[in-house]
Amino acid sequence: MTLTNRTVAFIYAHPDDETFGCSYLIRQIADEGGRPILLTTTRGDAGKTGHLDPMNEDELATLREFELEKAVGILGISTAEQLGMKDGKLDEVDADLLREKIADFLREHQADIVVTFPEDGISGHRDHIVLHHVVKDIVTSGQAPSVQKLYYNLFAPLASERPGVLRIEGRHRWEIKRQALEAHESQVFSVERVFGKLGPEVPPDHHHEFFELAWERGNSYPQKTERSIYDDLIV
Ligand SMILES: [Zn+2]
Repeated sequence: MTLTNRTVAFIYAHPDDETFGCSYLIRQIADEGGRPILLTTTRGDAGKTGHLDPMNEDELATLREFELEKAVGILGISTAEQLGMKDGKLDEVDADLLREKIADFLREHQADIVVTFPEDGISGHRDHIVLHHVVKDIVTSGQAPSVQKLYYNLFAPLASERPGVLRIEGRHRWEIKRQALEAHESQVFSVERVFGKLGPEVPPDHHHEFFELAWERGNSYPQKTERSIYDDLIV
């Protein structure tokens, strides 16, 4: 029997990263009785303000915290924490400090599975790439011993069907994802660049989300086809 009451940690750089790539998966975990948890390392204070008035970094950080809270509720995330590091400057943060803070989060919540950015950071954003390497290092070196699997969230249109890439069907959860995307109101230009104008129709390239199994209990890139992120977990 597959146990779905697991803790799945999403480690991301900015408020909205979780919604862009993982809404279907997060909501599915919550609906199946699991615990999706989120750690966001920055406050997103260097971002744009969309159709809203210009604002300073503190004002934007406060707004984005509020937007993230809304998305967290919509997606059913059970715990969301922010490290409050400088947006756009993760490569200037003390790497040991960043590693320790993320490892602490994973240990404290006894995460079974971790999801983060792939090596290219999806969008190529420097913060995303820095975070990829830190999270990979923590998990693969055993600094968070409860973690059994590490997945990378791939950008949907580029994801292949090769073994190790899990497709999460999301059409029936588009309304949830749309609401979570709308919650990040200040990021409307990025949202529309990726998804187009939001409406009731699922955008053509966004019927699924894709997750590459990068590591499982000591094995890098196990080449297997999975039906669920919970496949082969040890109780
Ligand atoms: Zn981001």
